[in-house]
Amino acid sequence: MSDVIVIGAGPAGVVAAVRAAELGARTELLARTELGGMAANDGPVPVRTLAHASRLMRDAQQLGRYGVTVSEPVLDYSRLLARVRQVVEDLRSHSSVRKRIGCLGVKVREQSGTVRFLDAHTVETQGGLRLQAEKFIICTGGISRRLPIPGFELTSTHSDAWGLTSVPPSMLVVGGGATGAQVASIFNAFGTRIQLFETGPRILATEDEDVAAAASRAFRESGMVVKENFGTIESFEKTPTGIRMNFSKDGKRDSAEAALVVVAVGWVADSARLNLAAAGVELNERKFVKVDEYLRTSAPHIFAAGDIIGRLMLVPQGAQTGFVAATNAVMGPTMPLGEEVTTTGSFTEPEYAQTGLSEAKARAAHDIVTAVLHFDSTARTIIDGRTFGFCKLIADRKTAKILGCHVIGERAVDIAEVAAIAIAAGMRVDELARIPLAFPTYAGILANVAVNAARQLDLRVGWQARQMECTGTAE
Ligand SMILES: Cc1cc2nc3c(=O)[nH]c(=O)nc-3n(C[C@H](O)[C@H](O)[C@H](O)COP(=O)(O)OP(=O)(O)OC[C@H]3O[C@@H](n4cnc5c(N)ncnc54)[C@H](O)[C@@H]3O)c2cc1C
Repeated sequence: MSDVIVIGAGPAGVVAAVRAAELGARTELLARTELGGMAANDGPVPVRTLAHASRLMRDAQQLGRYGVTVSEPVLDYSRLLARVRQVVEDLRSHSSVRKRIGCLGVKVREQSGTVRFLDAHTVETQGGLRLQAEKFIICTGGISRRLPIPGFELTSTHSDAWGLTSVPPSMLVVGGGATGAQVASIFNAFGTRIQLFETGPRILATEDEDVAAAASRAFRESGMVVKENFGTIESFEKTPTGIRMNFSKDGKRDSAEAALVVVAVGWVADSARLNLAAAGVELNERKFVKVDEYLRTSAPHIFAAGDIIGRLMLVPQGAQTGFVAATNAVMGPTMPLGEEVTTTGSFTEPEYAQTGLSEAKARAAHDIVTAVLHFDSTARTIIDGRTFGFCKLIADRKTAKILGCHVIGERAVDIAEVAAIAIAAGMRVDELARIPLAFPTYAGILANVAVNAARQLDLRVGWQARQMECTGTAE
């Protein structure tokens, strides 16, 4: 019998296994297929590689502006997919985590298939191998939500979209959240005619309103059809050239058609085949595994981490919760899950990101000041010909501490990351403004917007050289 069995080998499971072994537990890690989970094989890594290709196509279109003459870029999709596979493979072979797992003596069982509980201390792999442990950590992640709608089986998920052998002429993307926007943006760059349908009043519903509005505008300007508030889907049906989605709004029927329909309407726990009832593990009202602040499930010897608990469903948070769950599984409930500053965003065109408190949340809890710097007034973005977008910094009016940041435009995620560090360090806007960051850089945009915020608060920034860039509007 092992001390700890970790089920699922994505970022959460791998970190949980490493942590448990570091703490001296005899640990087994059960991977359905290979180490890495969705993050390495189907999520961020493949998506980021495709997004990079779409960026290259975009950049190639700018070459003429900079006096470089080349012929029109042409995409060879099968070669791009080969590159995606190569990137996934390279990451796998260079993975330091794999080496660490080996050094720590974690028993890794790849190709375990779908694992399920037989009782509170026993699991069975798909091949019928029965394994027992004192403690378990469930890290089985999530899957795309399916809709109970006639013809839904005709639709695809983001994974199917990555698996295409050629770029479809047209695509209907249902769901304007992070995944839908990403799929739409990438294939739009590859030349697919995109219709992005969102049932709510705006795409990117969890982002700042100004950011979502700017993204929606940019998507439309790049040729996508974006339909917010489109109504309710009634069915999908096959047509001679693709798939039709029938929907209705206010009693009026309508339809839209494309060669491929990708549905990205949410992410649900991958728990159905775990037989959790046999182990006494309960789900919460959102159907994710219910955990307390120590990531203990309703069965006190079973813990859970990553997407399966339905909190922020991102790689860093998966790893963080894996670490916390394993610590508590081995050491007893000693480490509550902290409230770290988190950055979210997506590598769409344009890119967007947020960190810390959103403007709406900050406004509800603080007296705030916001400063906005538009990208058409900063040196680096003008140099690079990337003047679409803005950076919005949110600070507490009384303490001048930075509370949050929203960015849309080139390298938005990188800019937000710098803001995250400033927030985590408890910096005031004038302190950030005084740092002589290199010129001309994307990170420098943040320091400039901090100058604007500091001025609104009548704080001296003391270092005036940056004034040459401070032409953005302070709001
Ligand atoms: C298109 C897309 C793009 C994304 N982009 C980003 C990004 O840019 N940045 C970011 O931080 N996050 C991104 N994410 C989210 C990120 O991939 C997830 O948050 C992260 O992978 C969650 O890690 P996890 O370990 O909880 O689960 P997973 O990575 O999903 O790993 C869980 C593993 O458990 C396996 N499993 C499931 N059930 C069982 C079972 N019964 N028995 C055995 N094994 C099982 C699964 O097959 C899987 O391999 C993206 C997600 C998607 C879909």
